[in-house]
Amino acid sequence: MFRPYDIILKTRRGKELTPAEIDYLIQGFVRGEVHDYQMSAWAMAVCFQGMSGPEVAALTASMVNSGEVVDLNGLPGMPVDKHSTGGVGDKTTLVLIPLVASCGLPVAKMSGRGLGHTGGTLDKLESIPGLRVEMDRSALLEQVDEIGLAVAGQTANLVPADKKLYALRDVTATVDSTPLIASSIMSKKIAGGARAIVLDVKVGRGAFMANLEDARELARTMVEIGQRAGRDTRAVLSSMDQPLGRAIGNSLEVREAISALKGQGPDDLRELCLTLGSIICHLGGIAGTVDEGIEMCRQNLDNGKALAKMAALIRAQGGNAAVCEDDSILPEAPVQYQLTVDRVGWVETIDALAVGTAAVGLGAGRVKKGDPIDHRTGVMLHAKVGDRLESGEPWATVHAATQDAAEEAAAALKEALALSDVRADKPQLILGTVSPEGEVEA
Ligand code: URA
Repeated sequence: MFRPYDIILKTRRGKELTPAEIDYLIQGFVRGEVHDYQMSAWAMAVCFQGMSGPEVAALTASMVNSGEVVDLNGLPGMPVDKHSTGGVGDKTTLVLIPLVASCGLPVAKMSGRGLGHTGGTLDKLESIPGLRVEMDRSALLEQVDEIGLAVAGQTANLVPADKKLYALRDVTATVDSTPLIASSIMSKKIAGGARAIVLDVKVGRGAFMANLEDARELARTMVEIGQRAGRDTRAVLSSMDQPLGRAIGNSLEVREAISALKGQGPDDLRELCLTLGSIICHLGGIAGTVDEGIEMCRQNLDNGKALAKMAALIRAQGGNAAVCEDDSILPEAPVQYQLTVDRVGWVETIDALAVGTAAVGLGAGRVKKGDPIDHRTGVMLHAKVGDRLESGEPWATVHAATQDAAEEAAAALKEALALSDVRADKPQLILGTVSPEGEVEA
């Protein structure tokens, strides 16, 4: 018979827990037999002592088993999934999911909403008039069977242990722990049923992980969890010092994603989609090598097949698919306010955190769960790091609901841009790839 007290003490002293002890703690917590104060004390002990590889794997397995596990094995082809640790202007899923589905891999994607300065796929999709993201499990599987892809919110019973534990971590200063973050993310991916998983671990100012060392450790931990659970897992480390692409805000990001699906759009967004897409196609068994995967993805972005899949997805989920041809269907903010530079120079930094926070202030994101959002608002960047600007040239446009909101955002964005007198280099986007064999630097 275990006691929570002994388990907390063991972790506090840096001793390894057995899978049975971990399972006792997690299932007891979900049932309400292990109390919040005990779970908080244990989470804090984990923050200080960390966890071994086998311990994190056992924690993840126990969290997966706390709720329903989706079975995607009946789908034709290997079910694949992608996860981003969250960033600013990160509309990758909107491009990547139709892209890999157009290459022949089934995708039943369960996505989240934005919180804090990072956006969420469901909010972005809901900018499209009529589109629904609430779907039950059988409707989701039916749609994937019919058209090869679906994007929906998580069902209530997927990893209840994570829901309960995350809520506790959020108020006890225990979010910031690699084993707890890794098990939280991977438990949801594993319970979601994918057999191959690609993780986009963001690094930098606008990311959860501000430095490369921490991001690497998170990536390695998640890849190890995935492999131990029998899911082929890779992680890409990508820079999030400046926003991804040029659009930040829901409707603006959908417009940019559609442009990328037409083979256009910003270079960094396309590069990231090709990198992640090629790995997914390789893991999913439809490309012999990653290079073949890149070629496959490049072709489908340029020949309209990925865009056609996006149109099928929008149509199937009740949205107006004409948006793929006419993006004026998307809601537009009434006020557009340009930010200009007062001297010539090269863009040295565009602070992703400051831009993400300004977008939230405009109503594009939410401060707390359940807040309403304004799909029309956000920021469009006219320059990226490394670009040269002439005096008086615009570097961004704020899209706002009112003139006051626009002016407030403009004031907040003043410090987000840094200009240099000397030429600034274009930063590297892909910083490395982590596989079970180790890390390959980009
Ligand atoms: N995202 C998650 O899903 N869980 C964490 O713990 C942190 C980020």
